[in-house]
Amino acid sequence: MPTKVIIPTALRQFTGNKAEVDVDGKDVGEIMQKLARQFPQLGKNIYKEDGQLRNFVNIYVNEDDVRHLDSHATALKQGDVISIVPSIAGGRALPRSERANEDFTLDEIERYSRHLIIPEIALEGQKKLKQAKVLIVGLGGLGSPLGMYLAAAGVGRLGLLDFDVVDYTNLQRQVIHSTRDVGRPKLESARERIEEINPHVDIDTYETLLSSENALDILDKYDIVVDGTDNFPTRYLVNDACVLLGKPNVYGSIFRFEGQASVFYAKEGPCYRCLYPEPPPPGLVPSCAEGGVLGVLPGIVGLIQATEIIKLITGTGEPLIGRLLLFDALAMKFRELKTKKNPDCPICGENPSIHQLIDYEEFCGIGTEQERIRLDPELELSASELREAVDLSPGPFLLDVREPHEYEICRLPHSRLIPLGQLPTRIHELDRRWEIVAYCRSGVRSAEAVKFLRESGFDKIKNLRGGILAWADQVDPTMPRY
Ligand code: ZN
Repeated sequence: MPTKVIIPTALRQFTGNKAEVDVDGKDVGEIMQKLARQFPQLGKNIYKEDGQLRNFVNIYVNEDDVRHLDSHATALKQGDVISIVPSIAGGRALPRSERANEDFTLDEIERYSRHLIIPEIALEGQKKLKQAKVLIVGLGGLGSPLGMYLAAAGVGRLGLLDFDVVDYTNLQRQVIHSTRDVGRPKLESARERIEEINPHVDIDTYETLLSSENALDILDKYDIVVDGTDNFPTRYLVNDACVLLGKPNVYGSIFRFEGQASVFYAKEGPCYRCLYPEPPPPGLVPSCAEGGVLGVLPGIVGLIQATEIIKLITGTGEPLIGRLLLFDALAMKFRELKTKKNPDCPICGENPSIHQLIDYEEFCGIGTEQERIRLDPELELSASELREAVDLSPGPFLLDVREPHEYEICRLPHSRLIPLGQLPTRIHELDRRWEIVAYCRSGVRSAEAVKFLRESGFDKIKNLRGGILAWADQVDPTMPRY
């Protein structure tokens, strides 16, 4: 049976551009000899005159390096794959004679020269990049590296959409913004940075929240939409608008050490709703603000998205359509799942029930969730009111319902930690006669704690409105914010 040999890009010029060649043989040595005979130029490039493998080439069987093994002792099993892996240094400089062109200035030719010398991109691909229009929804962790690299790669028009301002907690991963940008709109700092990287890029800015009212108008101006958002309502909105407009939606998401990426393009494959017809209930999947994210992770996932965008524009390679790529930074492993178009998908299926954009906050249960944890104002007190109360003797019992690692970052004096999830089993540690004030980071989890404890007969419990962040704002500016 033949064995598959994978030919690296750099050597395909010697195999008539074949990326894979099937060769019969019982061991690696025999197969490589036959391959060298079939493609003599390839043979000369990877073997020395004396038949020794050249030093810049390695031979792998599946994932194992067999270079130093006796190649005739390396027997092969069915399904084994041989890879030829040469070292790669980068691109060579473009000879002067290949320059000058009506589509690009000399500056641009030089700027993009490492693209122009890749046969799969070349001048044709670079022209497509220059003509392309890409909308980046969200200039956070994913949008930052994406925007910078797409600009550097020469994408002609970038739409930037965000309504947030740069916060100190963004700087650990949102590398398009600098320390001096804290407090400025993200759109301003992103635009400046992109102009610094590549003045040949045209930039449109939208300082707005994407909504059912404006999404179709904005998205329609672009060829490709990138989902760099961090919340479910916007994700479903971007997906549905892309399906309705027939545009590809380049998806990425991140949480702690794990990332996902795919290309949702309903014309050729599944959409986001085919995978996840409905969002999880609010609060089940924590956001990065609540759960944290490794700073480099959005760089990796964002650049996978950028790679897919460049491939879609230039028509090169195999797009991530119909595939969900999973990345685990701790294990340093990529896995890939096949995704199928769902014939019953409510928006891209055979009999869709959604024909126009809907109310995505309601669809994701956001409104009802806020209702559920909205407390009577009498059951809350402000940070300043709590400051006065703790001066009294005896002051209230302070109940911290955050997680232990948050408690390590900062805490109110004389508080006791019982994480929200442990409250039902540790309720006996609290006394119903005590005046209790519950707090968390921003006041949402502690509102749930107050609701739970009141239902359990604690009549004297209140919530610190705005959480420890409000305490840092109004009472103690030395309190770390996170
Ligand atoms: Zn679908």
